[in-house]
Amino acid sequence: MPSSSLQVRAGQLIFADGDAGECAYLVESGRILVFVVKDGVEVPLKVLGEGEVIGEMSLIDNSPRSASCRALDDGSLLVVGKDQLLDRVRGADPVVRLLMRALLERLRSQNDSARGHGFDSGKTETEAMDDKREALRRIDLENSIAGGLQKDQFLPFYQPINDLKSGRIVGCEALIRWLQPDGRLISPAVFMDVIESSSLVHQAGRMMIEKSLRDLGPLQQRFGADFFVSINVGSGQFGDPNFLDHLEKTRESFGVDAECVKLELTERVMMEGPQAMSTLENCRAKGYRLAIDDFGTGFSNLQYLASMPLSDLKIDRSFVMKILSHERSLSIVKSLIHLARSLKLSLIAEGIETADELALLRKLGVEMGQGYLFAKPMPLDQLMQLAAQKAA
Ligand code: C2E
Ligand code: CA
Ligand code: CA
Repeated sequence: MPSSSLQVRAGQLIFADGDAGECAYLVESGRILVFVVKDGVEVPLKVLGEGEVIGEMSLIDNSPRSASCRALDDGSLLVVGKDQLLDRVRGADPVVRLLMRALLERLRSQNDSARGHGFDSGKTETEAMDDKREALRRIDLENSIAGGLQKDQFLPFYQPINDLKSGRIVGCEALIRWLQPDGRLISPAVFMDVIESSSLVHQAGRMMIEKSLRDLGPLQQRFGADFFVSINVGSGQFGDPNFLDHLEKTRESFGVDAECVKLELTERVMMEGPQAMSTLENCRAKGYRLAIDDFGTGFSNLQYLASMPLSDLKIDRSFVMKILSHERSLSIVKSLIHLARSLKLSLIAEGIETADELALLRKLGVEMGQGYLFAKPMPLDQLMQLAAQKAA
């Protein structure tokens, strides 16, 4: 993250109390004194050394420097630009931002009391309130989700996946729903990002695996032994070293085959580090199928795609919905089909809503698909009834 180096001499002032904050510094070598001036007298606050950061506070909360810094030795500092730091702060979870602000305010008021006057955060009242409200909303939602998980209020709905040639239902995707005590169903759009940005993703993820694999046996009895379930695996789950162990134990306890379980992942898994990648490899080695979801909507690095042990590629709804009206979407779908073929991946189109879309996808050779044209996601008993209707 740092961009350039600054050499300092012993005694050199690096910045002064009240200056505008343009950058922060990472101390490479030498000691730095942080101090404030009270009644014309320097009050030392602390001495920082190699590996420590100075000047970051005023960048984060956009207020003037609240202390001065002077080099005690000859040394060097790495300069961290304002944008480099702020991009990362803006991208952080709102709760983390609130905690950061609280810590900053505490530090600043310590500096200010050493200096003998009050603290001004530099933020407008409304900005600070908005930040706090958003952080509170998320904490509140996170607590309700944790309570809901404990009370077993979450469950999978299943959306059938059809073979586009024969029309046969060959599998389903498990999609999480939150059932309220008054019978209302809450969609993942409301809560999934809060789950995925907290440790609740593990508990929710395990619940979805347990319930989907429990339901797979009865579904296979109705739809055939090769019927599969596709489970969404959220960001962070593959990084859990116990993920595969839990999946295997659950699968064995319900007596289903790994080949009939598909794990849907997104490109984000590539940013989760080596543990996540080795979990992917191990899942594939055990026979689980891995489908890349939402491909083409993020940063879509083809190198990554080629290096992942995938078996399926899902064509995102955002392309399917425009396939008839938007030349470019059609081109993207055609390239995805080409790509999937050369990487020997099966194709599943999602979000098919019209017969015309279906006809075109079928013509292009897409093997499987799901969408409102066939069926919306539904509870287990409805899917079981659908099998009975098809058989009749
Ligand atoms: P997704 O994995 O891309 O799932 C497909 C979404 O498209 C589902 O929304 C599905 O109901 C919707 N859909 C399917 N066909 C059609 C169609 O023809 N038209 C329209 N308009 N929509 C269609 P849903 O169930 O609201 O899920 C939204 C997202 O939440 C999912 O997108 C997935 O990213 C996430 N999600 C759902 N369940 C789980 C879960 O158990 N774990 C994790 N990590 N994420 C989940
Ligand atoms: Ca999915
Ligand atoms: Ca998708």
